[in-house]
Amino acid sequence: MAGAALIDGQWIAGEQRDIVVDPATGDEIADVARCSVSDMSLAISAAERSFAGWRHLLPAKRGAILRSWASLMRDHSEELAVLVTSEQGKPLAEARHEIAYGAGFLEWFAAEGERAYGETIPSHKVGSSLQVRMHPIGVAAAITPWNFPVAMITRKAGAALAAGCPIIVKPAPETPLSALAVARLAEEAGIPRGVLQLVVGHPIELSTPLLRDTRVRALSFTGSTEVGRLLLKGAADTIKKVSLELGGHAPFVIFDDVDLERAVNGAMAAKFATSGQDCLAANRIYVQRGIYDAFVDAFAEAVAQLKVGHGLESTTDIGPMTKLSVANKCRTHIDDAVKKGARAFSANQEAGLGLNFVPPTLLSDVTEEMLIAREETFGPVAAVLPFDSEEEVVARANANEMGLAGYVYTDNLRRALRLSEQIECGMLGINTASFTGPPIPFGGWKQSGLGREGSRHGLAEYMELKYVCFGDLAA
Ligand code: NAD
Repeated sequence: MAGAALIDGQWIAGEQRDIVVDPATGDEIADVARCSVSDMSLAISAAERSFAGWRHLLPAKRGAILRSWASLMRDHSEELAVLVTSEQGKPLAEARHEIAYGAGFLEWFAAEGERAYGETIPSHKVGSSLQVRMHPIGVAAAITPWNFPVAMITRKAGAALAAGCPIIVKPAPETPLSALAVARLAEEAGIPRGVLQLVVGHPIELSTPLLRDTRVRALSFTGSTEVGRLLLKGAADTIKKVSLELGGHAPFVIFDDVDLERAVNGAMAAKFATSGQDCLAANRIYVQRGIYDAFVDAFAEAVAQLKVGHGLESTTDIGPMTKLSVANKCRTHIDDAVKKGARAFSANQEAGLGLNFVPPTLLSDVTEEMLIAREETFGPVAAVLPFDSEEEVVARANANEMGLAGYVYTDNLRRALRLSEQIECGMLGINTASFTGPPIPFGGWKQSGLGREGSRHGLAEYMELKYVCFGDLAA
């Protein structure tokens, strides 16, 4: 059934429907169920019922199911990628990459579930044996965003399922179609009834029962810091294990000892992937004074080559913003910076594209007083700021409440090591703009979040430790 939610093994049409639009054109492309609070309660009960069966399946069996799910995603990569582009807007090549990236988490956790080792502790008591065991935490919930509508589901669900937990996913209302398509493949792969459910609808309405229900033991959210804060408060009453992957404001620091072309290529990749709607996006590009003018010229030349358009056109580099509010924030950041003295250079954009489109824009001579230097833009606007010394740029890079990702470009090994210690963030690329993938612990410091996704640390988000002391063992 098209646009239906998956609850307790049934595809539910819902009494009310929500419309999904193509963000490039504003055209309606589908309608989907708007699930109710009672639908969510049914989902929680079904997840609870499925827990015993799923947790006791051998990890290798759970892994085999996850691998078949991944393999079905790879088989259907093209249809899934077209759905992602149609509802999210990103260029098709990036959508294809997202499907492969998303399937990779299932494959990686399929194996990692078999390695959820505990510990034995050398005993501090005579005649006793001490163990630490890992247990699945119970029913998990995931609230996923619209910028990676498939990969953020598999990154959370892959870990939860491998750990032995059922999971209820609430996808972003803007991008439910690819999420539902991926859930169909999970069902085809043999994930049992109630173990993976997709409940679509209004975020506040549906997150409230998830937060209040004591049976939901873990909550994972990717999205804005504001909403993350609300969810953390909401989860306090039932003391859930919460993992949050929130906003970023990544500094991208370029020293004057590097090859200019490498630095420009890195900054282009770190800024314009996913049309800038990426929590890892370089939001503040600090360039050392000695190469500042040359960098700005070369960067402007590269920005001018970017082609804006519908994501399904093969020539498109930059698609629409998924939400009008995000496009408007980009325009506010550009206007504010120009008003305060920044120089703006925008790539050409064909006339007639709608308001969700923002031409890729370079702002140079940005200062810390401008909005773009203080808050995340989440769009194709690159802020370039000059700096003089290493000490100064470290202080400026860290003078922010966000701490998700950072980037440093330098050919000086000792400096690279110093900065790898000093930059306050959860993920740091040294001379690279590409470092994500299933084996790495994805997550941030400060107000960029709590916990980690991917890697063995990601599995631990869905597990409880149990310490067991066997005493009186003397014969
Ligand atoms: P938003 O804060 O309105 O929503 C973020 C997500 O949370 C959406 O998926 C939304 O459906 C959900 N949501 C909103 N209110 C909720 C609530 N009360 N309870 C539960 N879920 C709720 O932000 P937005 O306008 O969608 O996106 C703009 C900002 O969000 C960006 O500037 C960026 O900082 C952040 N964002 C970050 C990521 C990321 O990858 N970390 C992804 C998407 C958005």
